[in-house]
Amino acid sequence: MAGENQASSGTPAKVKIVIDGRAHEFPAGLTILEACQRVGVQVPFFCWHPGLSAPAVCRQCLVEIKGFPKPVPSCYTPVADKMEVITNSPKVLDVRRQMLEFTLLNHPIDCPICDKAGECMLQKHYFDWDARLARNDGSKLRKAKVVDVGRHVVLDQERCILCSRCIRVCNEVARQQDLVMAFRGDRQLLTTAPGQRLDNPYSLNTVDVCPVGALTAKDFRFSMRAWELWATPSVCPGCATGCNIEIHAARDVIRRLIPRLNPAVNKYWMCDEGRLIYQRVHHNRLVSPMVAGSPASWDAALAEAARLLAQARDKSPATLGVVLSAQMTNEDLFAFSRLAGEDLRTSRVYLVGAGEGWRDDILVSADKNPNTTGAKLIGGLTLRTAADLKQDLETGVLTALLLVGEADVVGSLGLLQSLVVLTSHQGAPVAAAQVALPLAMWAEVDGSFTNRQGKVQRLHAAIPPAGQARPGWGIAARLGQALGAGWTYANAKQVFSEARDKVTLMSGADWGKAEMPVQLRFANSRG
Ligand code: SF4
Ligand code: SF4
Repeated sequence: MAGENQASSGTPAKVKIVIDGRAHEFPAGLTILEACQRVGVQVPFFCWHPGLSAPAVCRQCLVEIKGFPKPVPSCYTPVADKMEVITNSPKVLDVRRQMLEFTLLNHPIDCPICDKAGECMLQKHYFDWDARLARNDGSKLRKAKVVDVGRHVVLDQERCILCSRCIRVCNEVARQQDLVMAFRGDRQLLTTAPGQRLDNPYSLNTVDVCPVGALTAKDFRFSMRAWELWATPSVCPGCATGCNIEIHAARDVIRRLIPRLNPAVNKYWMCDEGRLIYQRVHHNRLVSPMVAGSPASWDAALAEAARLLAQARDKSPATLGVVLSAQMTNEDLFAFSRLAGEDLRTSRVYLVGAGEGWRDDILVSADKNPNTTGAKLIGGLTLRTAADLKQDLETGVLTALLLVGEADVVGSLGLLQSLVVLTSHQGAPVAAAQVALPLAMWAEVDGSFTNRQGKVQRLHAAIPPAGQARPGWGIAARLGQALGAGWTYANAKQVFSEARDKVTLMSGADWGKAEMPVQLRFANSRG
């Protein structure tokens, strides 16, 4: 009969091992490295990555096992019952130093001009485990410093420590063999596979996993030191998948997006298209309220918007439309749905958004909106479509429109008698509007999106809104006040709480804790 510790197959479900003199119990199947990480015992590594296979090529994670003749790679060796692991003996520390010295033998050590400085694993392990002067005062092997390997990525072959993480990201995540090792011994180098370039849709993940500054992103390299960046957790707005991300910003400008671990959504990865979407946040923004094409104060613009909308409503609510976008947050959608139903008394509420695009079976969704699911839940079945909007504009059913958010609006806006636009960017709707109000974007607000799986995921403001832009829910509340509404909101959390109470399928959602930007340091250096 299987004991408490035995699975029905006879394999131990749990194993008892000793690490550095302390007894622990772990599930069978863990590696020694994973077991050490679970109990806070530091073992350095380069080639191992939690989202990739383990080739055990860097030998940096060697540990001793009592009874074994030689140190073993902890990333590759599974825990076994009654195993005694030693991670800090003089012998282990010595082989750790020797491996670091070996890795550094031909490394250029150009940290002062390297983009990875401050978040480089080689730099960190050197300070943690070696910190001795080099014994090699001879010349080092020279390799190519600037190899244009792909659309978004540059390779420095001298800095490469041959860990193969980037090769495995391409093979195992993007499922494309774009990178390979060539030659052997100290001539070994990373290069592109014959006839290939590093142009797969997930190519920038190679930059994240590169433990050193060998692979750098063209849009980020030489622009910012890592320790000047502040990291804020958020969600990619590029498609309905809702990959979890960190926004890295400095001096109120977004410098890069990197993936944030969520095992249920995107694991450790994100696509290149989503990663570069931040560039839109700083481009061609509407930064001031506009009335009749000229900048105006918020008070004047809101008063004029309310006047136009009230006039249309009082004349005939059936000819007044409200257009919402699947790019908006749940909070903005909820506040504007309330404004449409309670204060503008119209049932002509349309849902539009970005058109469909390419998809794959890795992460990317065809729906290029981050919140189609949230919009449908909040708006219910009453939402009209983009095709309805086109028809109602062309047939003259609509004479006045409140157009909110980013969307490819089809149809003729020029036929309308009144057009009030809330948007983040300059463009045709702003040019056609009597009143245009600047809307804060996803990286500038607290809020939430509901992804294609129905997961409500939090956004946190990483930078202040551009110019005078404001969050949508706040503009909805002020417009409501100007129209005589009896409701208002003090912050996005209040809107979220009310939405959660009223929208059944949001009932389990959690606002979570407030997240302030955190400055990047070695402590959270990317592994
Ligand atoms: S480029 Fe970076 S990730 Fe790729 S093998 Fe070299 S060190 Fe490793
Ligand atoms: S798959 Fe979608 S959500 Fe994920 S990074 Fe790409 S665009 Fe963003």
